[in-house]
Amino acid sequence: MRIRDFRIHPIAMADPPLRSSYGLHQPYALRNVIELESDDGVTGIAETYGGDEPARALEAIREQVIGACPYRLTGDLSPMIDGGAAGLERSQTHRVPGENPLDADARTYATIETACLDLIGKSVGKPVCDLIGGRVRDKVPFSAYPFYKHAGGGGEGDDIRDDEYGEALTPESLVGQVQQMRGQYGFGSIKFKGGVLEPEIEIETVRQLRQALGQAVPLRIDPNCAWSVDTSVKVGQALAGELSGGGYLEDPCVGLDGMAEVRQRLLADGIETPLASNVAVTSFGDIPEAVRLDAVQVVLCDHHYWGGMRQVQQLARVCQTFGIGLSMHSNSHLGVSLMAMAHVASTTPHLTYACDTHYPWQSATDEIVEGGRVPIVDGCVEIPEKPGLGVTLDPDQLARGRERFRNCPYRKRDDEAEMQRHIDPNWTRKLPRW
Ligand code: MG
Repeated sequence: MRIRDFRIHPIAMADPPLRSSYGLHQPYALRNVIELESDDGVTGIAETYGGDEPARALEAIREQVIGACPYRLTGDLSPMIDGGAAGLERSQTHRVPGENPLDADARTYATIETACLDLIGKSVGKPVCDLIGGRVRDKVPFSAYPFYKHAGGGGEGDDIRDDEYGEALTPESLVGQVQQMRGQYGFGSIKFKGGVLEPEIEIETVRQLRQALGQAVPLRIDPNCAWSVDTSVKVGQALAGELSGGGYLEDPCVGLDGMAEVRQRLLADGIETPLASNVAVTSFGDIPEAVRLDAVQVVLCDHHYWGGMRQVQQLARVCQTFGIGLSMHSNSHLGVSLMAMAHVASTTPHLTYACDTHYPWQSATDEIVEGGRVPIVDGCVEIPEKPGLGVTLDPDQLARGRERFRNCPYRKRDDEAEMQRHIDPNWTRKLPRW
């Protein structure tokens, strides 16, 4: 079997005005979707970061992809993950995920790996999870991902969307958003995006969430490095009770040294809240120092930038070895990515937290998989008994996504520019802000 065609589809999907320490989400989130078609007419698909840069990086390896055997292509491309940031080089970054130049090769490789696995799975009639070691669970738990947000549902001009969740810029409205999301999807854990309002307001938000949801629902907060070490410690102290019972404090401040100091000071107070990260540990090269400093107790994996599903499986084993928990990071995405995330998570015994997903923030209008949105039931995505990733592309919906991309002015994610356009012309990302 040889790959005879390699198609790259830049697409855009409506995205509501969500806030984080990076700024404000643009009205469209961007993705690239690829198809690898074999000479016997089977097509493998994958979804990755959007915009021009990732598309160019994929285009740059076209010559190696065309004519390659899908069983061997990832071996041929393995220098992309062996030597660089996904190997033993450290890639720590505070940039928007997907914009870190140090793991660009790992992202490109991961896209090809996913599409090859889908192609192989569809060719032999087996699900991807069962090709990469076999599933240990059929249902993968995901967490609700509430954000402070402005009014609006995303999209622009005559493509403007309904605002399903409404504005949420207070503790009360954020709790309302979580209850609505839980009502619809049944999520059993909450990952709350902070780093947006004064820490006191965010502390109050988490307290109200705890009060509204009871003790059984794990709560996490992720301010994306917006706090100083002192503020991180204060929030950790204030929320010691709320974040216990399966929660964590994610990337409160910048860097392993800062995280280590927060950890030591919280432990000195008898507070064992784990610190999680998808920023301070983004490559295998970061792990020795993170372990030495006890800076990170939970790593958020992401096959999109860790160099693919098999790298995530290796990461899980390394984390288990060092007694570090494993969760999963998410970016705005559609159903192809959701299924890839679910497949790798289903094969990972050491997955100690429900995975993140932005999926509730996207809608059926933008979904590109045949049959529409992937169901999330009782907070879980079920692995279907279908070959490959279990999804195929809807060509009409894909064409609409491409048209949306052509018509919109955005070519990369830029939350800072969007913040300046709509909220404050002088706003810049400042770390720490508080
Ligand atoms: Mg994070």
